[in-house]
Amino acid sequence: MANTVVDNSEIALPSWQRRDDYCERCGELIKWDRIVWLDYRTSDNTYHINGVMQWNDPDNQGAFPFGAKCAERAIRDGVN
Ligand SMILES: [Zn+2]
Repeated sequence: MANTVVDNSEIALPSWQRRDDYCERCGELIKWDRIVWLDYRTSDNTYHINGVMQWNDPDNQGAFPFGAKCAERAIRDGVN
């Protein structure tokens, strides 16, 4: 997988993404500026880096928080 580790402090995130959150896959608490946000697509149960899916895609369930390693696995293997 290409480098999915992001530094969110370099990105203008909306306020709801500027808080620590729990990894969707393993439940670990992640500092907000280290969270990798992945979009979930319901049609095939896959996760995608933000920007891959169109925001108005009806199959786009929105962004979920992941740690860097879990994000790579979620993209590769899915979660469900
Ligand atoms: Zn995790």
